[in-house]
Amino acid sequence: MENTEKKQATAAEIAQIISSIYAKNLFNGKVALVTGASRGIGRAISIALGTLGAKVIVNYAGNAAAAESVVSEIKECNGIATCAKFDVADFNLVLESIKVLEKEHGGIDILINNAGISKDNLFVKFKEDDWDATLNTNLKGSFNCARAVAMGMMRKRSGKIINISSVVGLTGNAGQTAYAASKAGVIGLTKALALELAGRNIQINALAPGYFTTDMTSTLGSDVIKKIEEKIPSEKVGDPIEVAKAVIFLASQASSYITGQTLAVDGGMTMH
Ligand code: NAP
Repeated sequence: MENTEKKQATAAEIAQIISSIYAKNLFNGKVALVTGASRGIGRAISIALGTLGAKVIVNYAGNAAAAESVVSEIKECNGIATCAKFDVADFNLVLESIKVLEKEHGGIDILINNAGISKDNLFVKFKEDDWDATLNTNLKGSFNCARAVAMGMMRKRSGKIINISSVVGLTGNAGQTAYAASKAGVIGLTKALALELAGRNIQINALAPGYFTTDMTSTLGSDVIKKIEEKIPSEKVGDPIEVAKAVIFLASQASSYITGQTLAVDGGMTMH
């Protein structure tokens, strides 16, 4: 199968686009934790937040070199960043790691639950391990991190949690039962948590990205990408910066009266 190998935007391009839309000091004094930020969508979100003044904590699972490189990219854009290794699926490790980070940085103001994996197979061939890994990373990982930051945000009576779901959490997708279930679960988590924390001035929203050029989709052949593009009214798969643009809106005070919502960032794909 032919690999699409579409180039993602450089850090300088992300910084230039984001700062042409949003004020450069939008997140001055804020601390943002982005899970799964060493690559793809998490990388773009981190660079965007860093460009706009947030102190960014770049979380990753195993790829230290990639995470360090994102930290360097943010610093090159005059941002402040550091990285933190932990597996979002490990409840105790997440609680311990975030406790240390809160102490070090004076709390977490913005959490982006972005870390995710996709293990696809026909349902009748689906392995239990693959089901567990997908649900543990995508859904339990979002619970773990939200659970770890919630008390600190409640004490501050301020906070933003943005959960990265997927259009397949809205529509389903053959061959992606575990992934779709995990992403639909993220939407349920978003709504229930939003109801619990709304009175504390904490907004929890989800984004449902369509198809983006990242490592996760890099094995799709150009024939598959062409078929996907035919279903997208905007006629192209997205660059991760499109998700970053929406994250910035939801992480800022522009969305202070919006909570429990799921916004599709999909070029119009889920309209029909
Ligand atoms: P990606 O390029 O495959 O990157 C995944 C990131 O998640 C990496 O930084 C990876 O860290 C991290 N990660 C994986 N398991 C982890 C764990 N247990 N703990 C901590 N970090 C972990 O993925 P992507 O395409 O950018 O996707 C980002 C998010 O968007 C995911 O939630 C995905 O489901 C969602 N999404 C993507 C698309 C798309 O078209 N790409 C569409 C809809 C939704 P390491 O580098 O250390 O492995």
